[in-house]
Parts: sequence; C-alpha cells; structure tokens
Amino acid sequence: MSGKRIAILGSTGSIGISALDVLDRYRDRFEVTGMTAWGNASELKKQIFFHRPKIACIMDEEKARELSKDSSLKGTKIVWGTEGLIEIATRDDVDMVLSAIVGSAGLVPTYAAVKAGKDIALANKETLVAAGSIFMKEAEKKGCKVFPVDSEHSAIFQSLSGQRKEDVKRLILTASGGPFRKKSRAELESVTAGDALNHPTWSMGSKITIDSATLMNKGLEVIEAKWLFDVSSEMIDVIIHPESIIHSMVEYVDGSVVAQLGMPDMKGPIAYALSWPERLHTGVRSLDLGVKGGLTFEEPDTERFPALKLCYRALEMGGTAPAVASSSNEIAVEAFLEEKIGFLHIPQIIERVLSNHKVTEPENIDDVLKADLWGRKEAKAAIDQMKREV
Ligand code: NAD
Ligand code: MG
Repeated sequence: MSGKRIAILGSTGSIGISALDVLDRYRDRFEVTGMTAWGNASELKKQIFFHRPKIACIMDEEKARELSKDSSLKGTKIVWGTEGLIEIATRDDVDMVLSAIVGSAGLVPTYAAVKAGKDIALANKETLVAAGSIFMKEAEKKGCKVFPVDSEHSAIFQSLSGQRKEDVKRLILTASGGPFRKKSRAELESVTAGDALNHPTWSMGSKITIDSATLMNKGLEVIEAKWLFDVSSEMIDVIIHPESIIHSMVEYVDGSVVAQLGMPDMKGPIAYALSWPERLHTGVRSLDLGVKGGLTFEEPDTERFPALKLCYRALEMGGTAPAVASSSNEIAVEAFLEEKIGFLHIPQIIERVLSNHKVTEPENIDDVLKADLWGRKEAKAAIDQMKREV
C-alpha cells in the first residue's frame, strides 16, 4: 500500500463508514493507517480485518485487550482511551486526520492532530463550535489545511473557489428542516425519539439526527461557518430547503449567488475533503432535477425551533458560550433519546444553561474543556429540576 495516509477518528460511525467506502475504491491512492471506535468492537474488528491499519483504538481497555489477543488482527497495534486517540491522530505516518467522532469528545484528539501539523478533514463540528478561535489559530500557525466535511460547509468551500473574499456578501446555509418541519408547537410536545430519528433526506448518526430535528444542527453549523470562513454571524443566513439538493450558497456583492448541488449523500463532501483539489468517483447517484420535481424554500421558524436562535445568541455572547451551548445540547439530546425529557425541553435546557453562564475568553483547550464540563453539569441540573417540576 502507498499514497496519502489517513487516520479516521470515529471509523465505526455514519461518516466513518461512508469514508471507508470511498477509500476502498482507491486503495492505490490512500492508506488507512488508523481507525477508532467508542464501543462497537465487532464493527471495529471487521474494519481492521478488511483495511489492516497500523493502529486502532477502542475506548474501553478490556475490549482493547480482547482485540489485542485476536490473532486474525495481527499487524495492527491496539490502543485504548483518549491517549490512544491522540496517538492515532498524531503519528508520523499520518498525512491527514478525518475527524468523525461525534460530540465534544472529538475536540481533544482533533486539536492534538492540528498541533502535530496534520491536515484535517473535519466532520466533527463540535470542535469548531467549542474551540473555533483556538483551533483555527493553531491550524494557521502549523500550516495545516482544514477541509470541511459537513455538506453545507463543503458547498460553501466549493462556492468560494476562485472568488475574492472581499466580494462575499453573505453565506446562505440550507437546512432540510428535519422531520418536524410541518408540526405545530402542540404536536412537537409529544414527538418521540423514534419520530425524530426518521430523517427525511439524510442518513446520519443519532445525535446529529436529533440536532437536525431541533435545528440545533443548523445553529452549530452557523458557528462552524464563522470559524471556517472567518466571517461575522451577520453574514451567515439560514434557509429551509426540504429537498436537500442545494447544499449551500454564497451571495456576492454584485447580487450573484453561487451554489453547489447534488444528491444528499455524505460520500460527496467526504471524498472532496480527502482528495482536494481532485474529485473522486464516489458512487453517488447523478442528480436528476427532472425527477426531483421542484426545489422549494422557506424561512426557518425560530418560535417552534428556538435552538437556531440560541446558537446566534451564543455567538453574540462569545468566548465560552458556544462551548456551553453545545455541551448542554449533548446532555439534553442524550436525555431525549433516553426518553427522560420531551422534544421541546431540549432548547429550554440550552437556554437556561446559557442564561446562567458567565462568559470568559478561553485561552487554551483546558479552558474550553472546563466550560464544556460546566455546561454538562448545568444541563443535568436543569433536567433534574424539570423532572421535579412535573
Ligand atoms: P455516529 O454517532 O454515527 O458516529 C460517531 C463515531 O464516534 C463512532 O465511530 C463512535 O464509535 C465514535 N464515538 C462516539 N462517542 C465517542 C467518544 N465519547 N469517544 C470516542 N469516540 C466516540 O456520528 P456521525 O453521524 O458519523 O457524526 C460524526 C460527526 O460528524 C458529528 O460531529 C456530526 O455532527 C458530524 N457530521 C455528520 C454528518 C452525517 O451525515 N452523519 C454530516 C455532517 C457532519
Ligand atoms: Mg450539515
């Protein structure tokens, strides 16, 4: 094997599996040197067996010992825990790290990768939300390229290509609107995790699918866009586009709007991040606009879906506020998936936590992690209080 050497953080997730599918088509061009999983040892074992990375990580030490003993995985070093993730993200034999762990658990290894000078294909939006300023500064200092994997940001990246930054008027992020776009507030009170996991256009991991239903995902993406493209929040708009064909757009000062379109399949943006400036054959279906019928748009309703507004507010508050909004959301989403709280409680929890937060300017990743932890504790306290109130 030879070629570009890729380490995949979160290889057993939705993005990780799609990435391996793309990479498998180009075994002569890429080498998968490292892969990681949270708890799914049998999927990781299958992946190791098939891709033969030099190193793989599972979070649990016991499971790592089991995998180490497996003679069919000979040749792959097995490590565990956050230390293991960092080792995989920073090894000398890695050219690019695909950051595809979900949630702020992705922050520490992704930041370690940047510190080690690796180029990043960034799916884990929570890293930029929590630590955008610190992360992008470090990437610039180390000369690392950060390629967006998120479809909206990939679309904007592509729509900005060959243009002058000073000519940009605004970025327009599209959102599918999720499965509850047409539900009234009263109906939203009783929707279940099962209803929310049934996304109309994109197939994704459970946390981001719930985030899509609350529009928190779009809010996180607004913050992500600010750091990736170095624009103010006033220059970032969101429009609901239920067909998810236009992946996002850039408007220029002359009134011209440049968009990127395609079928909603993450293999497109994943491949572009891995192989920029070249394009790969991904197997993504051709777009047939005739069959699709019409493309429609509507304004987001922040009364029914306040999480989007809360992310703009967190950006305005600045400093540690976005980290706190993101981590409290993670706790709220977990509680919703476990059916401990209702759908409308998710933004209520984020709002309470943000209102109680005293913003500071994080100087380093430890400051960000402290804020993240504070947001989690406050969210748990808010959930307990809600339970007492009912
Ligand atoms: P997923 O839940 O399907 O997979 C997450 C991966 O991270 C798995 O490999 C899991 O084992 C690992 N993981 C989970 N918790 C971990 C922890 N605490 N420590 C270490 N590893 C852990 O998630 P996904 O849908 O693939 O999303 C991954 C990231 O990409 C998220 O940040 C998401 O916002 C972003 N993203 C996903 C999509 C998509 O289509 N799925 C689109 C855009 C952006
Ligand atoms: Mg997205």
